[in-house]
Amino acid sequence: MSIFKKIFFIDFIKGLSLTLGYEVSKSVTMRYPDEEKWAPYQRFRGLHTLNRDAQGRELCVACELCAKACPTKCITVVPMEDDKGIGISDRIAKVYEINLVRCMFCGLCEDACPTTAIRMGRDYELACFSLDCAAADKKRLLAPREIPQEFEGGYVVMARLERNKEGINIKPDLTRKKRWW
Ligand code: SF4
Ligand code: SF4
Repeated sequence: MSIFKKIFFIDFIKGLSLTLGYEVSKSVTMRYPDEEKWAPYQRFRGLHTLNRDAQGRELCVACELCAKACPTKCITVVPMEDDKGIGISDRIAKVYEINLVRCMFCGLCEDACPTTAIRMGRDYELACFSLDCAAADKKRLLAPREIPQEFEGGYVVMARLERNKEGINIKPDLTRKKRWW
């Protein structure tokens, strides 16, 4: 049997057929982040969002329940009186900041919030080169999200290059789904 194998290069052909099989099979490697992006599931817990009501008023009433519920004590809320109708009550957050270095994305702040002001968002590209951007302030948390809450997600979409003053941004193109995960 071994002489037969040697004469007809059986092991060599077996190995080669395996290699050729992988050559023609569909690649499972994701070309992240330049060509493809991951649009997370709706239940994914990424960077938080601070939300507004239908009239655009801030839902946060600075009650600090989220800060009390946070197991890592990474939320800072400083309340102030609202006499300009910015929020839904007469009290809004002067400072609302989450230290993302300490946050473990558990979602307990979201559960504790009585007004649905704080919600776990779906932005996950949070790496940065300085500690400044590791603290998410009120302005950043109130900014519109790249992936809207109602977008289903859970699959790969194509990436889209955008140039602006800060440089090149690579964003998910939610209109071009690539394949189901
Ligand atoms: S997700 Fe958890 S750790 Fe992060 S801010 Fe909310 S409660 Fe704190
Ligand atoms: S986000 Fe919610 S729980 Fe936290 S301070 Fe604002 S209203 Fe209170």
